[in-house]
Amino acid sequence: MIREVNYKGIAIKYDLQRKSVKNINLRVRPDLTVSVSANRRVKVKYIDDFVLRKADFILSSINFFKTNKIIGHGPEFTPEVFNNFVKDTFDKVCNLFMLYYNIQQPKLKMRTMKSQWGSCNYGKGIITLNTNLIYCTEDQIFYVIVHEFSHLIVHGHSQDFYKIVEEYCPDYKKTRKEMNRIFI
Ligand SMILES: [Zn+2]
Repeated sequence: MIREVNYKGIAIKYDLQRKSVKNINLRVRPDLTVSVSANRRVKVKYIDDFVLRKADFILSSINFFKTNKIIGHGPEFTPEVFNNFVKDTFDKVCNLFMLYYNIQQPKLKMRTMKSQWGSCNYGKGIITLNTNLIYCTEDQIFYVIVHEFSHLIVHGHSQDFYKIVEEYCPDYKKTRKEMNRIFI
């Protein structure tokens, strides 16, 4: 259901979906749409108010996606080009890590995920990347791949973990901040 709220004269449209979620989930997607999921017991008026309370976040996220051209790689960034880029980068990062660390080559899986860009199952040696990375820049995709490879060495997000990330992505703090704005 598409709903609309008015924030200081600006119309904010959002797609409301009823799901068995615990609280209300709100997400601004790189295609500039806003989606909200809430369970059936939450009244629509309450959800509208929630969206209004998040209006500054929503508008700044939309602005962020527009100004960073996070969408709009243009027609050249087709799913095929994207898949090849991911595979190439994955292999390159893998080679880099294998030079310095004693790791087994992990398997790459791709799937659509709702709340994370990637995950690392270090026990099974599987790195899963979010297919929505197609909306991200090459630098951001590179960062996510480095991040997940670093989990093969350090599992949590400790200082030691980010030291490894930083070796490969000196600008990781900026990139991480950009990407965290997409999921809340
Ligand atoms: Zn992580």
